[in-house]
Amino acid sequence: MNVLILGAGQLARMMALAAKPLNINVLAYDVGSEQVVDPLNLTQSFGDLNAGIELADNITAEFEHIAHDVLAICEASGKLQPNSQAIKTGGDRRLEKQLLEQQQVANAKHQIIESKADFDQALATLSLPLILKSALAGYDGKGQWRLKSLEQADDIWTDIEGFFAGGEQGVKHAVVAEQMVPFDREVSLVGMRDTQGNTKVYPLVENHHTNGVLTVTVAIENNEALQQQAQAMFDNVANALNYVGVLAIEFFQVGDQLLVNEIAPRVHNSGHWTQQGADTCQFENHIRAVAGLPLGSGNLVRPTAMINILGEDTVPNAILSVPSVSLHWYGKGKRPGRKMGHINVSASSNTELAERLSEVAEMLPSTAFADIQAYAKGLIGKL
Ligand code: AMP
Repeated sequence: MNVLILGAGQLARMMALAAKPLNINVLAYDVGSEQVVDPLNLTQSFGDLNAGIELADNITAEFEHIAHDVLAICEASGKLQPNSQAIKTGGDRRLEKQLLEQQQVANAKHQIIESKADFDQALATLSLPLILKSALAGYDGKGQWRLKSLEQADDIWTDIEGFFAGGEQGVKHAVVAEQMVPFDREVSLVGMRDTQGNTKVYPLVENHHTNGVLTVTVAIENNEALQQQAQAMFDNVANALNYVGVLAIEFFQVGDQLLVNEIAPRVHNSGHWTQQGADTCQFENHIRAVAGLPLGSGNLVRPTAMINILGEDTVPNAILSVPSVSLHWYGKGKRPGRKMGHINVSASSNTELAERLSEVAEMLPSTAFADIQAYAKGLIGKL
């Protein structure tokens, strides 16, 4: 069986690795070269998109910013899962917000801005500070403005106007203005839905960001009420989208309430820990779902944390001498800030996890892993 993935990055690579034992072969469509390649050997080509669709039993995606004509061709083949509307919703904050409102899922107070009148309306109706995010192609904190005081409004509007004018022709650009949420922490839920509509989820995890980019995820057993709240929101969104595959939801936690920040219609960086910490990892579960197979359990088998390796192509080998540490490289060329790999750290108890994570963090160069040591140390006595 062949599964074609739209996108040929590390997520396609990890799905290919997870699919092998199931005798499922993964091909990847590289949107840059417009060639279908082996995600484990990007130089091996199998032809263009049409050739890939022909070869594929099922088609899926590893990212949401895919040209709509590509999605349309794939959907017309009857092989695409999740459906194109679900993928588009994850790639457009306007559609995402509409979905959350329609499903009455809690999220930050917001206003969609397509004109100066909308911008003025946002300033009049939302309370400062605001975060303004481009509706399309914004991720990891890029394409964002923070408006703390009204004095900044003119400059920010000039910037946004320039952003609208510089965008792709024929595409209606927009910005979503959101009230800043005074959150206690950022958490996410990765879950999956199969072709029969059954859902399963992993435990809600805590995410630590450095300069707006995920750097550490911690997965431990949760408070049952919080887990149920997240799962209910997951089921609501996944059912509304008639979703098939792995879907991730990022939340802000305020007290004991969760507000959705964003939805990712794919396997997610905050689910990489599942390779060592869950019954069945997110990559295998996504492939199972799109191939019409039963889902594996998302149960936590041991407390696990993940550290992202950003912009570095080496880490000290000594980390591998720490028990239950796994290193995953993506085979990519080095570039500042680029996601190059990750480290999973597992333990038999939460206390041991905090200590082990801190031990590993101390071995990493503090230049490249800026505030990870302090974050890891802060978990000791807290987990
Ligand atoms: P995003 O691209 O939406 O994931 O935003 C990147 C980061 O900005 C998030 O991980 C948060 O740390 C922060 N952020 C985004 N939206 C809000 C908000 N409404 N309130 C507070 N912080 C936010």
